[in-house]
Amino acid sequence: MIPDRRLLLVHAHPDDESSQSAATMARYLAEGAQVTLVTCTLGELGEILVPELAHLTPPELGQHRIGEIEEALGIIGLTDHLFLGGVGRYHDSGMTRDEAGEAAVPDVMPANAFWRADLLEAADHLVAVIRDRRPQVLITYDPHGNYGHPDHIQAHRVAMYAALLAASPSHRPDLGEPWQVARVLWNGHNAEMWKKGFELAREQGIDPWPDRDRDSESFGPDPSTVVAVIETGPWLDVCRRALASYRSQVDPDLPFWRFYQIVQEIPGAGEAYVLGHGQPFPKSATPASDLFEGIETGGVSALA
Ligand SMILES: [Zn+2]
Repeated sequence: MIPDRRLLLVHAHPDDESSQSAATMARYLAEGAQVTLVTCTLGELGEILVPELAHLTPPELGQHRIGEIEEALGIIGLTDHLFLGGVGRYHDSGMTRDEAGEAAVPDVMPANAFWRADLLEAADHLVAVIRDRRPQVLITYDPHGNYGHPDHIQAHRVAMYAALLAASPSHRPDLGEPWQVARVLWNGHNAEMWKKGFELAREQGIDPWPDRDRDSESFGPDPSTVVAVIETGPWLDVCRRALASYRSQVDPDLPFWRFYQIVQEIPGAGEAYVLGHGQPFPKSATPASDLFEGIETGGVSALA
C-alpha cells in the first residue's frame, strides 16, 4: 500500500542530504511516510578533506561517494534513492570562489557538467519520478542554491521546472499521469541558530570562518520567511552518523564541522524551510513543525 504522506527531496551531491535534511528524512520515515531522494550528481569534484583519500581522481571520487551515500542512507533508513537520469548521467560542475569569497561558476568544467545540462532533459528525468512517486511535498534549494554552488542552483531550477511540468497533462504523457505537487519547500539554515552556534563556537575557541567577517553576514533566510522547522534534537545521533559516513568530505574535527555539531545540539535547532511554491501553511501554524500541515493527504485514489 502506498503511504498517504509522500515526500521527495532533490539534492545536488551525495552528503547534501545528510548535512541538510537528515532529521527531516529520518522523522518522516519513522512516521511511515514515503521518502524519496534524488541526487543530481556523484559529487566527483568535491573537496577531499582527508589525506588518505586525496589520491582519488574525480571518477574514483564519484564511485567512492556512491559508497558513502549508501552508508549514510542505511543509517537514515532511506531505501528509495535515485541519481537523476541514472548513475553518472550528470557530472559535478565544481565550484570556484570570487574575490569576495562567494561561491561562483568555474571557467572550466566537464562536458557533462550538471550546470550545462539541458534543463528540459534534466527536468524530464524528475518529471517521471514525480509522476511515479506522487509526492505532496518537494524539498530543494532556494534560487541561489543556498550559498551559490552551481550544482545547487541547477538542482533548484530542475526541481522547480519539473514540478510545473509534472502537473501539466499536455507535457510528455508517456512519462506518467500528471501529478500536482502541493507544496515546494526550499531548505535553508536556521539563521538564528547558526548565529547562536557561531557565538558558542567562538566561546570554545572554534572559528569556522577564520578568513571572513561573519558577524555582519546573514547565516540563512530571514527568520520571518521560515514557514517550517524540523527539529534535529530527536535525530541528533542519526544526523551525526549519517554525515560521518562521508569520510572524503567531512572531518568532524575541523572547525566548520565542530561548529555544525554545536548548532545541531542547540535546543530547538532544526532544518528550516521557506515556502517556494504551492500551498501555504495555515497562518496559525508557522513556523510549522510538520511539512504536510494543512495538506489533504488522505488516500491516493481521492487525490488522483
Ligand atoms: Zn552540494
